[in-house]
Amino acid sequence: MFSKHNILISLRSSTWTNLLGQFKFHKSSIESASLVKKNHIGSQKIFANNLYSTHTKSNLFGNYSSQLGSRHQRFTSKMDVNYPSLEGVIRVLNEIAPLHLAESWDNVGLLVEPFTTISIGKIVLTIDLTEKVIEEAKTYGTELIIAYHPPIFQPIKSINHRTWKERLLLDCIQCGIAVYSPHTALDAIKDGINDWLLSPFNIKEVRPINQSSMDTRSTNHYSYRLETVVANENDNKLLERIEKLGKVLKLPSSAVIYTEDKNLPLIINILSENVSTKASIHLSKLDIPPLPGFGVGRIANLTQELTIQEIINRTKQLLKLEHVRLALSPKHKLESTVNSIGVCAGSGGSVLRGLPVDLLITGEMSHHEVLDALYANGSSVILCEHTNTERGYLQVLREKIISKLNNGNVEIIVAKSDADPLNII
Ligand SMILES: [Zn+2]
Repeated sequence: MFSKHNILISLRSSTWTNLLGQFKFHKSSIESASLVKKNHIGSQKIFANNLYSTHTKSNLFGNYSSQLGSRHQRFTSKMDVNYPSLEGVIRVLNEIAPLHLAESWDNVGLLVEPFTTISIGKIVLTIDLTEKVIEEAKTYGTELIIAYHPPIFQPIKSINHRTWKERLLLDCIQCGIAVYSPHTALDAIKDGINDWLLSPFNIKEVRPINQSSMDTRSTNHYSYRLETVVANENDNKLLERIEKLGKVLKLPSSAVIYTEDKNLPLIINILSENVSTKASIHLSKLDIPPLPGFGVGRIANLTQELTIQEIINRTKQLLKLEHVRLALSPKHKLESTVNSIGVCAGSGGSVLRGLPVDLLITGEMSHHEVLDALYANGSSVILCEHTNTERGYLQVLREKIISKLNNGNVEIIVAKSDADPLNII
């Protein structure tokens, strides 16, 4: 017996495949369903018209609990239980590369959030989000693309077909694919891209070029310290009100108050109510503690000196490159041994500027930045092209996500179609 139903199902295509495999559809239903899936594989929305027998429908939706969202009807499958939510995956990504470590000019985090993403079964990793990468991701039925470079950087005033970047975003939104970008947060972490660039070498000492600081939000770090005299009971009453705005340490005849920027004016207002406390306020700004080992770029000393030729060989091997570009300082030959190295993934010109090291390794530097390095600092320069210094790390990131997710069901794929746009021919 067949009944006619028009059903809009919003679910991952891998779940759809599971459904086809696990439920005994009528043969013609499977054929129709497959046809519908082929037509809508990208959109992850499947219109199934007149497909299900009453029995199959009852099996299908008996195993689903429906949740009415504000705009879409969602179905959560028991088969989805082992897949993490988008929020869960983002939590893991933020554990790996906390977003507060990103440079202030950067645009990191969840950049595209679809209405109907329920859970994450397939993730594609890429350096750049391009049309080819999205097409590849669609063939896997991906719910999330982690694009190292943020595809949204400049503010956008519209999303239409006018520019190639807007078209990419439209495509992701229409297909229900989320896009997340860690960018400079991933550069800054310990064991991040810059440490990976140094991995072919035995390192004696290493430190970030631009030091990262602790996250003041998560560590309850206070920005200000105030000290004031506590002369009478009225002063004590002020302190009781201040306890809601910061940490108050009461001493025999004074009090120390730690607070954040936003509460400082309120606290000073309260202390100004009494003459004794107002007259004795002593205010000092607190530094944010550094986060050892975290920051942009790395400056390293080798355990044992290596020739420039050997460093080139090892760098080529790590990055799987046949060629790199080399600018030799007047004091160096290929056989010269060096001890100190500065590295910066991607475009290292500004980060590496003026660094007192023997050798710089980065993706790209301008002609004049190279000249400055050679003649002002006596540093030789190895350029590998921008994304060649970043792409190999995607495999490391993949392993990190897998171990943190602790969920064997999530498939993480490094995009095959992602490549540096420049080739030496
Ligand atoms: Zn880059």
